[in-house]
Amino acid sequence: MNENDYLQQVAAKTGLQHYPNQGPWGKKSGSLVGTRDGYITAIGFLRDREGEKIVILLRFKKVADPESLKASLKDSPALPAKKPGKLGAAGTDFLRWDWKYKFTKPKPEQVAELANSLQAAMKTLAPGFDGRCEQCQSSSTPSLTLMNGIPTYICSSCQQKVHQELDQAAMNYEAIEANYPNGLVLGILAALVGGVAWGLVAYGINRIFLYGAILIGYLVAQAVIKGTRKVTRFGQILIPILTLASVLFGDAIFYTLSVMKSESLPFSMKLLSAVVVHLWEIEKEGGGILSLLFALVGAGYALFAARKPKFKAAFQQLGAPNP
Ligand SMILES: [Zn+2]
Repeated sequence: MNENDYLQQVAAKTGLQHYPNQGPWGKKSGSLVGTRDGYITAIGFLRDREGEKIVILLRFKKVADPESLKASLKDSPALPAKKPGKLGAAGTDFLRWDWKYKFTKPKPEQVAELANSLQAAMKTLAPGFDGRCEQCQSSSTPSLTLMNGIPTYICSSCQQKVHQELDQAAMNYEAIEANYPNGLVLGILAALVGGVAWGLVAYGINRIFLYGAILIGYLVAQAVIKGTRKVTRFGQILIPILTLASVLFGDAIFYTLSVMKSESLPFSMKLLSAVVVHLWEIEKEGGGILSLLFALVGAGYALFAARKPKFKAAFQQLGAPNP
């Protein structure tokens, strides 16, 4: 059964409506959206690192303590003892339940049942919506709007306000003066720390890891952005360069340690710089290509981590064609 037909079946069993191409998860099959007893529910397919999932999003009026909500939900008598899937995420006004599956989707009626028991559990834990705007709590807002894909009760003047606030936030961000020297210094420090760690780990367990390179990329990106205080073109050029340099430096440390061991030599800067000078020849002989490849992936990830924050909100009516 394809995703569209499947969602239609769940829709029939839950009373929710199917909106292809719409909803929080950006898939063609879209999602089921609706409000039942004041609780907003969205159900759809999500594919992420963990694999294929059916996800159920439940939204409710803000609660003060999402941690205690999570704990109470776990023990809720409304949920079966052996729960299908697990709580994926929860915040002050939402929870997301993930039902991972392989090859065969769960039966549509099981998904409907799960959505019902989640809603029953939430009834005792958080209040539902009452036809008013979530933000100002006053304007009558009978229908849902998708805010960046999330079904929300938000009146038109609050939508305006969100746009204005985001515009203001974007302007404030532009107005931050970048501190380039700080970014450079912190970036180099992070690259040095990352490189030493890479070299020691490689020496200790005789292996290198892709995650290590990604971690270094992330570390360098964080350090540079913290130093410059914002995402800049300078940083976006510096970050991948430093990540590459950090991994190569880590390799140099690894080879230096290996030479020290095999030749029973004490550590010296002379030895280290000899290794650095001949690094390219050494890399070509050893497994250097692999760590270079990992470093490139790490640098790519670093660039991804160093994106400019987005100051945009998109509001969309349910059932409206995609812009
Ligand atoms: Zn409002």
